[in-house]
Amino acid sequence: MQSNESKDLDLMEDGKRQMELCNACRYCEGYCAVWRAIEWRRDFTDNDMTYLANLCHDCRDCYYACPFTTPHEFGINPPQLFAGLREETYRKYAWPGSWGKALGEKVAGFWLVFILFIVVMLGGIFAKNGVSGVFQKYTGEGSFYQIFPETLMIGIFSVLGLWMVLGWAIGASKYWRDIRSSKAEKVSIQDIKTATKYALSLKFLDGEGAGCTYPSEEPAKARRIYHHLLGYGFLLNFASTTLAAFYAHVLHIPAPYPVYHPVVILGIVGGIGLIIGTSGLLYLKLKSDKEVNDERSVKTGSAFTVALLTVAFTGMVLLIFRDSAAMGVLLAIHLGSVAALFFTAPYTKFSHFVYRYLALVNFAQEERVAHEAETAQKAKPAKKTIAVAGGVASKN
Ligand code: SF4
Ligand code: SF4
Repeated sequence: MQSNESKDLDLMEDGKRQMELCNACRYCEGYCAVWRAIEWRRDFTDNDMTYLANLCHDCRDCYYACPFTTPHEFGINPPQLFAGLREETYRKYAWPGSWGKALGEKVAGFWLVFILFIVVMLGGIFAKNGVSGVFQKYTGEGSFYQIFPETLMIGIFSVLGLWMVLGWAIGASKYWRDIRSSKAEKVSIQDIKTATKYALSLKFLDGEGAGCTYPSEEPAKARRIYHHLLGYGFLLNFASTTLAAFYAHVLHIPAPYPVYHPVVILGIVGGIGLIIGTSGLLYLKLKSDKEVNDERSVKTGSAFTVALLTVAFTGMVLLIFRDSAAMGVLLAIHLGSVAALFFTAPYTKFSHFVYRYLALVNFAQEERVAHEAETAQKAKPAKKTIAVAGGVASKN
């Protein structure tokens, strides 16, 4: 059986072959950022392929437009190719590397850690409170901390939060060095603004207004909408958690807060966005065209989406039943799933937003430089005419 390393190697070589053919064809020019970035290259290095893969949003427009897909002997399939290479990115830049394989590549390893965190949280709560203590009602200010000590909660999530950010930062710095390896031009503030606009609007899933050809050949806007709900839902939940920390540790008003409190409102809106976004994306994935899918990335991507859905769902259930005797168990399951998500974040699809965003920054810079070069090129003949005219005028 072929190992994943040799599959990755084959994929990289096959990817370069496909890109050389695409560069000769160029029918897909203008479809997305990938096709502009291809135009600016003659040869494709491994780092170029990694960059292009992380620019691709898997909209599949190019696949359905292409006359050279299987059964044609060229076997062109850019979305499948790039999905496979993105998977490789998450492993290649993971830190520590071997953990990337155990927790990112192996879905079983990911789920094992996920369940383990929930079991440990449940075990800790039972050990501290005893069975009767866990199934007792706790209400009013600070009731969460009667079940789970505040200092322990802060300690665990601070360490896990740092771990997640450190893992992403190490991966991002190695990745950035690679995709930028041959460029002297500096990234400007304008490039960052352009990339942020592309990222926040999911510009390359727009299909110029018609939506993308996912899950089928018929253009639809559903994927972009679900992706927005997931992304902004996550940001609202993050804002809710940050605000809760401010209330608890600066204003000394401990959780839980009433339903009309801004912390809870942000949490509810964000939670609903996450639940609809993740469920919608999972549904689309189930219906998606198998011919275009990369099997490995479907598995690992779905595992991450289900984990995110679990976090959002358990958070909402905890909010609904927080005044009941089930609060202790629900709190343990929710905290366990959040902790597992943080711990595995540098190895799973959670890291894709880091690599996607950096690819967009690199693209914005390449786009600006190309635009400046085009403008300078257009200005050249005009300058020549003025110079000639000036010369004629001085002669006369
Ligand atoms: S995907 Fe197909 S149609 Fe598009 S540029 Fe490549 S070879 Fe041409
Ligand atoms: S699948 Fe969509 S985003 Fe990816 S290369 Fe093709 S057109 Fe671009």
